[in-house]
Amino acid sequence: MRYVHSLINGTLKKTIDSQVRENPATLEPLQEVALCSKIDVDQAAVAAKDAFQVWSQTPPLIRSNIMSRIVELIKNNLDKLAKINSEETGKPIRESSIVELGGVIRTFEYYAGAATKILGNTQVINENLLSMTLKEPVGVVGQILPWNFPLLLASWKIAPALAAGCSMVIKPSELTPLGTLEIAKLCEEAGVPKGVINVCPGLGEVAGAAIVENPFINKISFTGSTKVGKQIIKNSSDDLKKVSLELGGKAPNILFEDCDIDSCIEANLRGGFFNQGENCTAVTRLLVHSNIIDEFTEKYLAKIKIINQGDPLNLKTEIGALISKEHIEKVEKYVKDGISEGAELLIGGQKPDNLPGYFYPPTVLRLQSDENILFKEEIFGPVVALLSFDSEIEAIELANKTHYGLAGGIWTKDISKAIRVAKTLEAGYLWINTYGGIIPETPYGGFKQSGYGKELGLEGLNEYLQIKNISIFTGEEIPKWYGDN
Ligand code: NAD
Repeated sequence: MRYVHSLINGTLKKTIDSQVRENPATLEPLQEVALCSKIDVDQAAVAAKDAFQVWSQTPPLIRSNIMSRIVELIKNNLDKLAKINSEETGKPIRESSIVELGGVIRTFEYYAGAATKILGNTQVINENLLSMTLKEPVGVVGQILPWNFPLLLASWKIAPALAAGCSMVIKPSELTPLGTLEIAKLCEEAGVPKGVINVCPGLGEVAGAAIVENPFINKISFTGSTKVGKQIIKNSSDDLKKVSLELGGKAPNILFEDCDIDSCIEANLRGGFFNQGENCTAVTRLLVHSNIIDEFTEKYLAKIKIINQGDPLNLKTEIGALISKEHIEKVEKYVKDGISEGAELLIGGQKPDNLPGYFYPPTVLRLQSDENILFKEEIFGPVVALLSFDSEIEAIELANKTHYGLAGGIWTKDISKAIRVAKTLEAGYLWINTYGGIIPETPYGGFKQSGYGKELGLEGLNEYLQIKNISIFTGEEIPKWYGDN
């Protein structure tokens, strides 16, 4: 069985504790994973602190060139990384290679370019004073990741941090550490100095907590559940670390009466079932105008019936296995509870008996009420709740009736209506007449209890920078204030 090490100061290390991770699709043992202790994390933080002196002083053009080499190495290792990713997560290999690694490459490409565009500004205040701002890297960054997009989310954190000149201690999810570790190793191979990227696989309450509390770590970038996000704010408050949080979601997708139903269906299949629905922006609340809900539902269910679920490593597979036993049990319970609260099961809801792993089929339920648990809670599986509405105002009220605010969609041929509705939706990332696809050029992040701070875009880079203002006297003599009255 392969062993997943930690990477501290350029050295792959075994840890005292470890745990075996099973393959979620076959239930066979997959890998033994290092579990870092507080001592391991503290060593990684010291290494990152020392490496920060080197990397933050490396000229941006050199950082940019190294990042371009990372892109080449990821392209050269694409098949290997895709296989690791699908084995660790249970997701279809074509999603790993085309979508996830496609996104990883694009993110490193984008930030390789951005590294040389970190600009301050100058202002003439008056004839005696010039002011200039410098954008400087925030220092050592603690980056804590979930398991659903291990490679993509690692790139969303590593690439802007490298571009900014930061060093980092990364904790991948204990369920999916190998892909992140492999990307870190490729970064070193490309020329990132040792100690700039340290990877500490481990448990949240041990390795994650140690990162949050370490005094050498200046910023935490966290992606995960709202519950853990709240703990991180509390636990990082002693030394007032800068914190950015990408948390859970409960995305609505609003289908108005005049939408193009066929395009809508295609996008909603991806919106609901891509990555087995283990996706923070997944469409989980499908709000459909009452005049089209019957036509929509009939066509939507017909398409769902032909989705190919099975072996994640088979190129033809369109939906794979969920991440773990604990997680599939959670999803099953949500569906049962939703039904007992009055939801009508339209398709799915029954684990297939011909597949050995944690497979759960695409599942759709029609709700009669927005009080149903399926309308309220993040399920994080291939489960979509359908609810009808009669007016624009009702659709907006339903869409905003959640403490989450990550993403959402609007479908209508009336562009004024689309923009009017978009302006009222309480979510940080919206799509109009399309759904899904987050591109590195645009800032991504949630409102409300979906978190704060941005990833991607220049806004995402700014999260790793702090602004210093320098005022410069340009006159001939400093005006006198004391002793001249
Ligand atoms: P999780 O919150 O359970 O764990 C996330 C990470 O935090 C893991 O690495 C875990 O080990 C660590 N952790 C747990 N307790 C910790 C603690 N006390 N201190 C420090 N670290 C700790 O989330 P998950 O189950 O891995 O992922 C699913 C969640 O992630 C969902 O809620 C999903 O919506 C969210 N998510 C959000 C985004 C986004 O961009 N907004 C993207 C992907 C996933």
